[in-house]
Amino acid sequence: MAKLIDLTGKRFGRLTVLERAGIYKSPDQETYMLTWRCKCDCGKETVVIGNNLKHGYTRSCGCLRAEKSKERMEKYRDYRFRAANEI
Ligand SMILES: [Zn+2]
Repeated sequence: MAKLIDLTGKRFGRLTVLERAGIYKSPDQETYMLTWRCKCDCGKETVVIGNNLKHGYTRSCGCLRAEKSKERMEKYRDYRFRAANEI
């Protein structure tokens, strides 16, 4: 078995690792991955696969992505607004 890396207390983006949550089994049952319970800066708790934390794929409970797309929407709206004024 691969060396167990303890991520407890570590921070990844907005997430702070609280404890080991369990083991994630891939659908083909061939891959086992550790999952970790994390606390997000927004206050929500989420369970994340360890590799996703280590590789930076998961950096929040999902709120970060939600905010980013909101930001994009607002930028787009500003742009449209400005364009309409310039005509
Ligand atoms: Zn969050």
